[in-house]
Amino acid sequence: DLRVRFAPSPTGYLHVGGARTALFNWLLARKQGGTFILRIEDTDVERSTQASIDAILQAMEWLGLDWDEGPFYQTDNFDLYREYVQKLLEAGKAYKCYCTAEELTAKREQAMKEGRKPKYDGTCRELGEQPADKPFVVRFRAPQEGEVAFDDLIKGRIAFPAEELDDLIIQRSDGTPTYNFCVVIDDAIMKVTTVIRGDDHVNNTPRQIQLYEALGFPVPKFAHVPMILGSDKARLSKRHGATSVMAYRDMGFLPEALVNYLVRLGWSHGDDEIFTREEMIQKFDITNIGRSASVFNTEKLLWLNAHYIKTGDPARLAGLLLPHLESRGIDPQGGPEVAAVVKTLQERAQTLEEMADRAAFYFKAPDAYDEAALAKFDKEHLRAVYDAVAQRLATVATATAEDIDALFKEICADKGWKMGQVGQPVRVALSGGSQAPGIGDIIVTLGIGEAVKRIARARE
Ligand code: GLU
Repeated sequence: DLRVRFAPSPTGYLHVGGARTALFNWLLARKQGGTFILRIEDTDVERSTQASIDAILQAMEWLGLDWDEGPFYQTDNFDLYREYVQKLLEAGKAYKCYCTAEELTAKREQAMKEGRKPKYDGTCRELGEQPADKPFVVRFRAPQEGEVAFDDLIKGRIAFPAEELDDLIIQRSDGTPTYNFCVVIDDAIMKVTTVIRGDDHVNNTPRQIQLYEALGFPVPKFAHVPMILGSDKARLSKRHGATSVMAYRDMGFLPEALVNYLVRLGWSHGDDEIFTREEMIQKFDITNIGRSASVFNTEKLLWLNAHYIKTGDPARLAGLLLPHLESRGIDPQGGPEVAAVVKTLQERAQTLEEMADRAAFYFKAPDAYDEAALAKFDKEHLRAVYDAVAQRLATVATATAEDIDALFKEICADKGWKMGQVGQPVRVALSGGSQAPGIGDIIVTLGIGEAVKRIARARE
């Protein structure tokens, strides 16, 4: 049975690249009825923080990437790693290295000077036990013959000459295990069958394969996902804009839009662009992940977001809109129902931030009017319009948007006005601006009473 894992290092927020790796793992697990494991790689105690762990978990939940096992923490496994270091030492597959930092630096510099690739020279390989008070690291005795190769599920066959592989430090002088070692032990004991991760780890893979073999563990399959780039083809970073998943939430993106965007970033299914979660699960396949890096395209993400806003359930969107209203100091209590407001705006908003801007007038009468829009009409005409509309509205108890639109047509016919001569001034009176949903939608959503009040105020 398929077992995959997402293994973030909690040294910052969840990056969109990490989220995509998590998504690919999650999709494969869901598609094959496998198990998706979450493992927090917190062995770098200096740089790992609880705040970052919380932020990563929150982002995973927001994206709807639920895990079946975990979260596991590597810091809980230190005893286990030590046991395996011991095993390798006893089997002669690892050795204690007593070289000092100064000695190693000198050797490295010498190698560079001679144009050789710096590599541990094996001084302590056959040295044996030294006095107990001498500090040491533990090195893996990396096999030097032949090559280490694997068939990457995305990149195809990758081979490294074994002689290029260093005698990796697996335990530092303070007794803590090193990154590559922990990953191997964890993937082995968690019985991970397929490792899907960023291709920045390709160079770690041959070292890890040697460790699996030395420890007698089965070697998993590997799939290295190409990087995400910015528009200038450099690796996506803050310089290009937001890279944190939660920053996208704050900018008013829907999780389904971001997920849909990320799945298409490097993976394709024909020319399809829009996928429901079920379709994604059904159609996802590692073999359709491209070999080259993908460029992050905010325009396309916006397009998908607009699609999901347009087609979203108004009640759900209303819930997601609330924090965006709140951050503007808008309290929807006592105003129109937020879901009704959403219905009038979802056709045109690209983000929830934009929607919140446009929704503000529903909850707070305008304190200024778009003067340029009103300047097209003389004062007398405006008064006549506001009077006629207020009068007619006052006679209506309940109405649909269509009823109101019909009523405006009647007024126009009665008075010999064109629709623009009536609709525009009324829109400004109700919303302060000239760009808003249809007039019938606004009035019905706002409530006829409130609309009449606002028209009366504008008339003054
Ligand atoms: N913790 C590693 C990272 O965040 C991932 C290691 C792996 O997936 O093997 O880059």
